[in-house]
Amino acid sequence: MLNSSFGLSAEPTFSQDKSVNMSSLDRHQQRSPGCRDKTTGAGDSSAVRERARQPLQGLKLASHAVLEKAQQRGRVKCSKCGGSRMFFCYTCCSLVGVGVEEIPLIQLPVKIDIIKHPNETDGKSTAVHAKILAPNDVTIYTYPCIPEFDREKVVLVFPGPQAVSVQDMLQCLRDRSTNRSHDSCGPRPKRLRTEEVQGSTQSEPEWVSGSRVAPLQKVVFIDSTWNQTNKISTDERLQGLVQVELKTRKTCFWRSQKGKPDTYLATIEAIYYFLKDFHQQCLGLEYGGEYDNLLFFYSFLHAVINTAKTAAGRS
Ligand SMILES: [Zn+2]
Repeated sequence: MLNSSFGLSAEPTFSQDKSVNMSSLDRHQQRSPGCRDKTTGAGDSSAVRERARQPLQGLKLASHAVLEKAQQRGRVKCSKCGGSRMFFCYTCCSLVGVGVEEIPLIQLPVKIDIIKHPNETDGKSTAVHAKILAPNDVTIYTYPCIPEFDREKVVLVFPGPQAVSVQDMLQCLRDRSTNRSHDSCGPRPKRLRTEEVQGSTQSEPEWVSGSRVAPLQKVVFIDSTWNQTNKISTDERLQGLVQVELKTRKTCFWRSQKGKPDTYLATIEAIYYFLKDFHQQCLGLEYGGEYDNLLFFYSFLHAVINTAKTAAGRS
C-alpha cells in the first residue's frame, strides 16, 4: 500500500520545512501504538530506518493508485480558481485531477467545524482533507467569521488545564444542561451518573432516552500554527466551550515545527484520533477502521515526504 517508490523531488506544496500547520495538541503524551512501525522484511539500515519513520501503516485505506497516477501527471489547473494544484484545491476545497468517485467518502458520527486562521496559507492546512473526504459532516470557517456555539452542545478540541478527556466530555455537557449554573468543567475524579446523583425525583433528562452521544452536536477544531492558535482559542465565543484534550496520541506528521515538540497534531490527525476515541469511548463500539480514510491523502503525502527526505539524505 504505502511504499517508498514515489520518487518525489522537491515538490513545493509538500516540502517539509515551510509547510507546517499544526493543531496544538498533545504536549504530554507518549508515542502511541498507532505511531509505531511495523517493520517487515530486510533491507539496508537506511531502508529499515526509513520504515521506522512510517507510522501510518496498518490503516484500512482506499487504494492510493488514483493518487499515484495523478502525481505522475503532475499539477493541473483548478477549474474554479485557476490555481496550479495536485489532488485537490486547498482554496476551493475541491478535487483537481481526481474524480470524486475515485476517493473514499466518509460518514462521521458527529458534525465537525474547523476554524482556520486567515493568515494561514491554505496550502499548509490539512483541514481541507477532512472537508473533501467527509463533505457532509465538515464545515470550515475562517476566523473571525465563526458561528455562535451552544455551550451545552458543542465542545472544542484544545489542550489546557480545564480540558477533559473524550471519555468525560459527554458527561461534562450533560452536567451543563442539567445544571445551567454550573459554569466550570475541569478534570475531576470519576463520579456517579447524573441520574443517580439526582435520584428518581426528577423526570428522566432528555439525553438518557436520546442517542448515546446526546447532547453533543458538534466538535470544533482550530486549524492554525501554534502562535495563532492561542489567539483563536481565547476568543470569547470559544472560551465558554467544554475543552477536550487528546491525551494519548503523538503526531505522525511529517513536518515538525521548528522549536516545537513533535507532539502537535496536524488537524486531520487530531480529527482522526478524536473520532477513534469517540467511537470506542462514547459510542461504545469496537473500532474497525471506520475513519481511517480520513488519512487517505495524509498517509500518501506522508510516504511521499519520507521518500523525498530519504532521497535528500536527510534521515
Ligand atoms: Zn481552486
